[in-house]
Amino acid sequence: MSLSGIGVSPGVVVGEVHRIVHVNVTVPVPGTLATVLTALNDVASDLEQRAEHIDLEIAKEVLSAQAMIARDPSLEEALSGLLVSDTNYADVRPAINEAFAGFRNALLSLGGYFAERVADLDEIAQRTVVRLSGLEVADVALTKPSIVIAEDLTPADTAALDLNFALALVVEKGGPTSHTAIVARGLGIPAIVGCAGALEIAASTQVLVDGRDGVVLVEPSDDEIATRQNREALLRVRADSVSGPGRLADGTPILLMGNAGNESDALSAVAVGAEGIGLFRTELLFLDRQTEPSVDDQVLMYRAVFDACDGRKVIVRTLDAGSDKPVPFLNAMDEENPALGVRGWRLTRIADDVLDRQLQAIGIAASQSAAEVWVMAPMIDTPQEAAQFASRARSHGISQVGVMIETPAAALLADKVLAEVDFASLGTNDLTQYVMAADRLDSRLSDLTSSWHPAVLRAIALAAQAAQEQGKPIGVCGESAANPKLAAVLLGIGVTSLSMAPSALAEVRGYLAGLDLAACHKAAQAALNATSADDARQQVTAILGD
Ligand code: PEP
Ligand code: MG
Repeated sequence: MSLSGIGVSPGVVVGEVHRIVHVNVTVPVPGTLATVLTALNDVASDLEQRAEHIDLEIAKEVLSAQAMIARDPSLEEALSGLLVSDTNYADVRPAINEAFAGFRNALLSLGGYFAERVADLDEIAQRTVVRLSGLEVADVALTKPSIVIAEDLTPADTAALDLNFALALVVEKGGPTSHTAIVARGLGIPAIVGCAGALEIAASTQVLVDGRDGVVLVEPSDDEIATRQNREALLRVRADSVSGPGRLADGTPILLMGNAGNESDALSAVAVGAEGIGLFRTELLFLDRQTEPSVDDQVLMYRAVFDACDGRKVIVRTLDAGSDKPVPFLNAMDEENPALGVRGWRLTRIADDVLDRQLQAIGIAASQSAAEVWVMAPMIDTPQEAAQFASRARSHGISQVGVMIETPAAALLADKVLAEVDFASLGTNDLTQYVMAADRLDSRLSDLTSSWHPAVLRAIALAAQAAQEQGKPIGVCGESAANPKLAAVLLGIGVTSLSMAPSALAEVRGYLAGLDLAACHKAAQAALNATSADDARQQVTAILGD
């Protein structure tokens, strides 16, 4: 039997299942305002202690943040407004839930990364109720190397686990930016999120986890284990054996770059031999900003990334605020469909001056740095938007201007859009969600949100052909570029550069070094003519091997 989800951290391991099932209090919990506040205080102290004792920096930060929420005076205020002191209540759960509801709704309405933090908040409420009920908090301790399976892993779970014993993490819920995914990548162990049915696997069952493909095999055969382990080992050996600029076996140069959100990512990209930054996600610098940073402050932030690249190319993307990455000072409005709303370049409709000041700051930072700075706009739909962006960017002294192609409209009209700019970059994460009309964060739709889908590949082919005809560079900077086999397909379709998380670069470079362009073309033709994402992947595997 096999289960599938979203692979968020690569690697293949085999081991016994350790299930984490949370205590759910379904009976009334009596109490008073004082006992509730004491329980909340105890939960905060417990979280603080866990934060102190865990080594993993990211888990420490989340636990400390949770403790701060538990100690937030407005929570105590909300509880005091709902429970009258010195009164005995037969059930305090409704008051606790209501007190947390305000915080919960605020996070949910922000969407994306913030909405995924709701699990952290819910855990504080749940721990408070469990403590008041006198029940034991679920024992999550690991005593031997195991594959951890849970509905979702909360920060406190990961603090309580002895992570040295965790071989892999598999959770039923969560998306690529959930706590589980972040922790697994930090530990360098395989992980799968959105894996429906995983909790039905009995404790101690032997399973194989393939964090690259997002597959769990229950009681795998020796053959299945060998095939997946060998493939993974081969990718790693190839990765270690090739260095220098990207190149196919026939000598065709392939520009390989890194994606970055800050200076540390840029340094990681340079360290693994990236020839530059193919996507600098500037909005990530602003996710916690209540007010817009001044032009001077922005210049310093951009300079840090440019200077880390030491004269290499940096493709800066202007603010892609909105949808799954809301920026507090820009995305205050409620939207019915944030992914289809005012995000990316569309923000010029409501905050034109913010994007203008950003272009100004990028222009100044570029003029002060040795980096070769190119600039592109996200969420461009039409040739008119492309022209508007190009003229605005050029007026700030930026000479290489481009657009992201990540909507079906931009792909269908790529010839007209590209005529307005110098280059394009395919945002295959969004292009996939919009071509397939499937939310990229919804794990139930993972068969539809795969960039292997021939419908997505055909949209990419339209754009690549237009770029080729105009002799303009077109890269891919979505997650698809980080999948070695899919990267080969993209090159066969005609893209000229690939940009990915720095951690993926060595494997992609190693894999491509063993293929020639003719093989990439053949793989691309098969994928474009497939009938589904799975069909495309299988046909390409038959051509390229593992
Ligand atoms: C994309 O959509 O593929 C992309 C690279 O941008 P982001 O993931 O930041 O939306
Ligand atoms: Mg995008």
